[in-house]
Amino acid sequence: MEPNRREVRACDACQKLIFFALTENGSWQALDAKPDPQRGTIAAYRQGVRRWLCRSLLADDADQRPAHPLERRFTPHAQTCAGRKPSATQPTIPGFAVEPSAPPGSSQPGSGNVIPFRRRRG
Ligand SMILES: [Zn+2]
Repeated sequence: MEPNRREVRACDACQKLIFFALTENGSWQALDAKPDPQRGTIAAYRQGVRRWLCRSLLADDADQRPAHPLERRFTPHAQTCAGRKPSATQPTIPGFAVEPSAPPGSSQPGSGNVIPFRRRRG
């Protein structure tokens, strides 16, 4: 079983077709719409109209649990998404590092996201 046209949508970041399945913890996971019978790490099946359930095959007890007869293996879209790659370096924490090239007076370190608090008069 594969997700049908009404169940898939294009990923906002890479336009690849994805669908969402409900995990056992109650959160939604984006999966590639095309099944991957060999390397997919998520088993998913349609439970009702436009509702897919999924479970991880990497879990410790994944082997002991009976497979749903309609389960197919899918890949988490986070593994294949070309649009949002995690950055290799942690971004600078505001206020902990000062850019040496910043022109003087342009900005105070750590003040970028701070809104000055003023008491209202009266
Ligand atoms: Zn994507």
